[in-house]
Amino acid sequence: MRTIKSINSLKRELKIIKSKNQTIGFVPTMGAFHKGHLSLMRNARRDNDIVIVSIFVNPTQFGPKEDFEKYPRQIKIDELFAKKEKVDIIFYPSAKEIYKDCHLTYVNVTNISKVLCGRSRPNHFEGVTTIVSKLINITEPDVMYLGQKDAQQAVIIKTMVKDLNFNVAIKICPIVREKDGLAMSSRNSYLSQKHRQEAPCLYKSLKEAKKMILAGNTNSKSILSWVASNIKNNSSGIIDYTECINADTLMPISRIKGRAMIALAVKFRKTRLIDNILFHLK
Ligand code: AMP
Repeated sequence: MRTIKSINSLKRELKIIKSKNQTIGFVPTMGAFHKGHLSLMRNARRDNDIVIVSIFVNPTQFGPKEDFEKYPRQIKIDELFAKKEKVDIIFYPSAKEIYKDCHLTYVNVTNISKVLCGRSRPNHFEGVTTIVSKLINITEPDVMYLGQKDAQQAVIIKTMVKDLNFNVAIKICPIVREKDGLAMSSRNSYLSQKHRQEAPCLYKSLKEAKKMILAGNTNSKSILSWVASNIKNNSSGIIDYTECINADTLMPISRIKGRAMIALAVKFRKTRLIDNILFHLK
C-alpha cells in the first residue's frame, strides 16, 4: 500500500494502472476510520483490481461554527486499517493541493441539497459535491463506494453523477452499527458518556417505526410524531428533523408507499447525529 499526497504522483500511478486495463474502486472519506469505512473498502476490494481510498477533511463542507478544526485526524492509525483491508493507494492530499489559490468553481445540485440536513447546514452539500467531483476527476474510478448512513449525500451524489455525465458507477453499502444499534460515525467520539448511552434510542425508534409501518400504519404524520416523542422520552437529544421521504427523490410523503425512508438528525449538545431506515411497501 502507498500513501500518495500529490495529484501529479497519483496521475503517474493511474497511467500505469489504466495501461493494464485494471479496474479502480474508489472510497472517498474524511478518515478516522471505523467499521463503516472498512466495509466500503472491503466491497471495493471484492469488486476491483485496484482500491483507492482518499482521506481529506474537506474544509468547504463545514459551516463556520462546525467542527472542522476538531474533526478527528489519525493518518497513521488509518494507514494500518487500510493496509489490513488490502487497499492499494491512500490518496492523502493537503488542502492547498486540492484548493489552489483562486479556486472559484463549485458544484451545486439544486433542490435536494436544500432539504433535510441542507436546512441546518446551508452550504454543506455544495462542499460535498465539489470535492467529490474533484476526487472523481483526480482518481478516475470505475466504481465509487458510498455509505447508506449518509443517505441524502448518496442521493445527491448519484444525481450529480447522472446530471454531469461522470463516467463512474456508484455502489451504496449498508449502514454498519455498534452492537447497541448506534450507527457508526467518526463523530460518536464527541459524545459524553450520558449521551452515548442515550444515542441508541435513535435507531430503536426507527426500528419500531418500521414495524408499525409494516403492520399497516402508513400515515407519515402519526409515525413521525411517535418517533419524535419516543426520542424525547428516552434521551436529552434535540431533534433537528424527522422525515418520511421517498428514498430516491428525498421528497416528503404523507402516505408511506414504494421505496421509502425515515431519516432523522438529532443533536446531543454540539454533536449532530444522523440515521435512517429504508423499507419497501408494495
Ligand atoms: P466520512 O469519512 O464520514 O465522510 O464517510 C466516508 C464514507 O463512509 C461515506 O460514504 C459514508 O456514508 C460512509 N460511512 C460512514 N459511516 C458509515 C456507517 N456507519 N456505515 C456505512 N457507511 C458509513
